[in-house]
Amino acid sequence: MTLKDPTLLRQQGFINGEWVDADSGETIDVNNPATGEIIATVPKMGAAETRRAIEAANEAWPAWRSMLAKDRAAILRRWFELMLENADDLALIMTSEQGKPLTEAKGEVAYGASFLEWFAEEAKRMYGDVIPQHQADKRIVVIKQPIGVTAFITPWNFPIAMITRKAGPALAAGCPAVAKPASQTPLSALALAVLAERAGVPKGVLSIVTGSAGAIGGEMTSNPIVRKLSFTGSTEIGKVLIKQCADTVKKVSMELGGNAPFIVFDDADVDAAVEGAIVCKFRNAGQTCVCANRIYVQDGVYDEFAKKLAAKVAQMKIGNGVEDGVVIGPLIDMAAVDKVEEHLADATSKGASVISGGKRHELGGSFYEPTVIANVTQDMMVSKDETFGPLAPLFRFKEEDEVIAMANDTEFGLASYFYARDIGRVWRVSEALEYGMVALNTGILSTEIAPFGGVKESGLGREGSKYGLDEFCEMKYMLLGGI
Ligand code: ADP
Repeated sequence: MTLKDPTLLRQQGFINGEWVDADSGETIDVNNPATGEIIATVPKMGAAETRRAIEAANEAWPAWRSMLAKDRAAILRRWFELMLENADDLALIMTSEQGKPLTEAKGEVAYGASFLEWFAEEAKRMYGDVIPQHQADKRIVVIKQPIGVTAFITPWNFPIAMITRKAGPALAAGCPAVAKPASQTPLSALALAVLAERAGVPKGVLSIVTGSAGAIGGEMTSNPIVRKLSFTGSTEIGKVLIKQCADTVKKVSMELGGNAPFIVFDDADVDAAVEGAIVCKFRNAGQTCVCANRIYVQDGVYDEFAKKLAAKVAQMKIGNGVEDGVVIGPLIDMAAVDKVEEHLADATSKGASVISGGKRHELGGSFYEPTVIANVTQDMMVSKDETFGPLAPLFRFKEEDEVIAMANDTEFGLASYFYARDIGRVWRVSEALEYGMVALNTGILSTEIAPFGGVKESGLGREGSKYGLDEFCEMKYMLLGGI
């Protein structure tokens, strides 16, 4: 990995403004999923280092919260600018540890940075309220205050954006933070910390601890100083963390798993739906929680859609994400490949047919061919469980009611997509889908200006948008009497 600025590649944790090793001296390897090569090591930290980071955050809190919002905003804005100035290096670090194509990594750097820009602006708009009094000699005022020390636990699929999406609003609101990145992708998080420090984020306001998930998460969730946990990851771990936070009654934000339906109605523009399905399903090799997991196509356009999708998918270039033209990189690890194979074997054993791809790629390792399967039904594993890989299952349906029932038949409720033109249907279906997000006639919905989040077991809270700041605020009601 040849960086323009090699100082962005750090192999130590960042606690209270200092680059440090684990107390034990132990490290964990970071590997490149495209080559299997070990590209770096990072400290294997645990509860003690996390506690120090939390205590440092608590010490940094009074000065950070009392700084004028305009001044915090200027620091966040500078951090945003530094991310863009260093976009090529950040993208290369990300592709090297995560595997996604370089163009996607650059897209994520811009997307990740946008949360810092947005919340730098929102920092100045943490407005309160004045409520008309209920008694003549009283006045009621509501103010918003930063909740306190916050902790983040983030996944490997968006190594930068999942951190800035939390750090932007937390820091904007006046909260310090301690973040634990996924062990597969700590280097992007550490590079972000380098830039945060350069931007003027004071020591202790943002620490990064790498290492043991259980030990770090255990300290974050049990330490009474921490007032808020923001987690992005699996529903399974999210439930564990919610339980752990119960003892100290912490506020939690949870961005958990999805099982996104992608519905194509007869009145859709089929070519546009095929394009949308490609970006929605195969971005990051299918490893996003908003990727289409179930593609429902109405009878009248099913055959045309299936044929066109399979033809496009067969042309996708697979390879190391740093190579030109590659649109699908390796999966994060072999466990991810196993899951795709398990879902595929289950589907084909119950009658589904492979119409494109269908096996490990000849490059070996965790490369897997983008795959389309037809004749998929609700009794197959893919209908219940998120594949998190490049497998596009096509279900056939006849009626609107039938597809809404199938789409909602899941404990998840994050993103949903549909393609249609009839205006009545557009309203009916948008309202009927039990999801936190509904995208119509497009396959990409993430943006910093809109509220991202799920319902049901997909999570709690929203990230981005004007609502994102509230997640890091407490509301205080002040009653003035004797007037
Ligand atoms: P994924 O399947 O996307 O890897 P996980 O929920 O397993 O999702 O991981 C998301 C994040 O949660 C990662 O940073 C991981 O290290 C962390 N994590 C995993 N297990 C625990 C745990 N028991 N306590 C705290 N964090 C955990």
